[in-house]
Amino acid sequence: MRIDVINVGDGACTAVESYVPDRGELTIIDCGTHPHSKVVTTPGVAAAAHLGGRLTDLDTIVVTHFDTDHWHGLLELADFYGARETARKAITLRYPGMPDLGERVSARQARAGLMALISTRDDDPLNLVRLKTAWEQVGSVSAVPLYRGDVFDANGRQWRVHWPPRQVDVTRGKKYAAAIREVLDLADDMAADGYTKLRDQFEEAYGAWEEFEDQPDAIEAVPHDADPRSEEEPVDPEDEADLDQDDDEDVDLDHVPEKHRAEFRRLVAKLDGLDNYFSLVLSVDDQFIVFGDIEGTALRAVVTETRPEFALAGHYGVMLAPHHGSHVAHASRLPAADLCICQSGSKHQGKNRLHELRHSSACHPSTWECGTICVTTW
Ligand SMILES: [Zn+2]
Ligand SMILES: [Zn+2]
Ligand SMILES: [Zn+2]
Repeated sequence: MRIDVINVGDGACTAVESYVPDRGELTIIDCGTHPHSKVVTTPGVAAAAHLGGRLTDLDTIVVTHFDTDHWHGLLELADFYGARETARKAITLRYPGMPDLGERVSARQARAGLMALISTRDDDPLNLVRLKTAWEQVGSVSAVPLYRGDVFDANGRQWRVHWPPRQVDVTRGKKYAAAIREVLDLADDMAADGYTKLRDQFEEAYGAWEEFEDQPDAIEAVPHDADPRSEEEPVDPEDEADLDQDDDEDVDLDHVPEKHRAEFRRLVAKLDGLDNYFSLVLSVDDQFIVFGDIEGTALRAVVTETRPEFALAGHYGVMLAPHHGSHVAHASRLPAADLCICQSGSKHQGKNRLHELRHSSACHPSTWECGTICVTTW
């Protein structure tokens, strides 16, 4: 298996290829960079330039979660892919399913509310639903949500999904459902004042995602999240250290009416962590594991999981460090690895050293220091 971690600055983009007789198969996991990245401003172009003719073999796209630094470059990449005449074929787009948050908010409302808020926050006229549309210009696209316990084939290998769960624990579900409801209320309040963007984007997302996301159907046998913390349990200081971090401190909210800006900012901060919390975690045997941007309690739940169908291996060949290698909580509990690669640029690299100290059972190259990193495993 060949793993290319492509340097896109403060973002993520990885290509995985393995030898399959008579057919090439290429998987791209994420492609995007932080909107304020100074290193790479066109991650899709960077990925296309690196992959060259290999791009023709692309048949699987995995989006670990829908933050700009993980998906936006896939729009550019669709243009490059589409420009290749031989490229037209079936693409499978795999993304994290939205767990059931309980009765007050459906998974579809939660997804659409979260997407609308993110798109409005970034003042991005390209709603995330356009990702699927962009790739439909170049081939047929089937979009498949993934949950913990799922397995799928790509690159002639079997991939296992460790996160997100189909269901979250009741406390967390209530908390997030309430926050999503607040987003919907804010959308109505702002629309009443003549600013309809948030509500329009919610409605667009809600309508568009219906066709390719169903409610989680199978409920896991264990009726609670793997997160062992209960309401009574004292807060683990390691968790709080991460949850308080704000990734997008420099969000430009000038377009949001002043009256609603404080509430908007509060909800962005509250739900920012939600996207990361529901990031995909995927592995291929004990060779490769992708942590997306999970941190805090989600990371703890994944690394302390003991049920054999969901548990991690004790050692991996290559690991993509959680959250660009910028978070330290629970790093000491991560599995050992030959390489734990930090996908970092100027914004995240400052914390890589701390992660490295905590996660001492791996060697830590970063794209910030090394540029694009290519590894071959068995
Ligand atoms: Zn990220
Ligand atoms: Zn993220
Ligand atoms: Zn590490």
